[in-house]
Amino acid sequence: MTVLASGSKGNSAVVSSTRTRILVDAGMSCREIFKRMKAAGEDPGTLDAILITHEHQDHVQGLSVTARKLGIPVYFTEATHRAWMRWMTPRKRLTYAEWLSQRQQEAAKKKAEAEASAAMPDADAENPFYREAELAECAAEEEEMTADAEKVEADPCALPGVEYFRAGTKFSIGDIAISAFTIPHDAIDPVGFVFQTEGIRIGVATDLGYMPPNVSLQLRGCDILMLESNHDLEMLRDGPYPWSVKQRVMSRVGHLSNDAAADFLEKNYDGQASYVILAHLSESNNLPELARVAAEHALRDRMSLIGNRLVLAEQRTATESIVL
Ligand SMILES: [Zn+2]
Ligand SMILES: [Zn+2]
Repeated sequence: MTVLASGSKGNSAVVSSTRTRILVDAGMSCREIFKRMKAAGEDPGTLDAILITHEHQDHVQGLSVTARKLGIPVYFTEATHRAWMRWMTPRKRLTYAEWLSQRQQEAAKKKAEAEASAAMPDADAENPFYREAELAECAAEEEEMTADAEKVEADPCALPGVEYFRAGTKFSIGDIAISAFTIPHDAIDPVGFVFQTEGIRIGVATDLGYMPPNVSLQLRGCDILMLESNHDLEMLRDGPYPWSVKQRVMSRVGHLSNDAAADFLEKNYDGQASYVILAHLSESNNLPELARVAAEHALRDRMSLIGNRLVLAEQRTATESIVL
């Protein structure tokens, strides 16, 4: 497993067996995904499929370009696919220049509003105007692709293949068996995943407001456990976000705090993982050290050289690949 990026500004990871490679979420521009894969020694050309957890921008930003460049299918739930299409569609009716100028106007308006309230929420609020640079880069990629391949329909939602799965069911991609389970988050049909292949079990649970029993159960017996540790409650409370955004992040459909992650690790986690990856850390409301200390304290004497080694997933660089 290689985490290419994790956090409210973009999420993407590669899960592979010896035969199959899956990109889980595509929350950065295609260029950035490829750059990070190469840096991590992964070849984008060997990917078999893209799997999407939910339609928030930090998980789908580079999806269409990446899927089309690689010519590989995308696995969604049907509701997530539809929500993603709705998110993409307004762009279809605009030229790139119109779209960019509209975005810039919206961003300027948003910025003025944020300055007025002396608070600038980041994309933890999944604020669609936050990542102007990244959005512009993705749109430019779209533009390039449409220009140099006239055969490609100028439809930003066009994908080489769409496969549906349902939350609460199991399916396979190549020799990787996947369980998709519902997580409590304010998207249309958000899921976490457990991947099983060659006797190895990998659990991914980020973007969840709390840890419900069904998720806790799914995460049993994992060799690699990727768990959200989004914010420090005090930092969030005292931080720069407007109150409405703070409420959203803290809510039952927001994000998992360091304390909530630690509580799970202490009380409901079976201690089986070789690696515990703390993920989706907020850059505004958390510090890697706070997340680490909370998890270390929860795991206390269960950590060893062979078990429960903590890894902190990063926003800005790919984390070193974990090979089991
Ligand atoms: Zn997210
Ligand atoms: Zn989300």
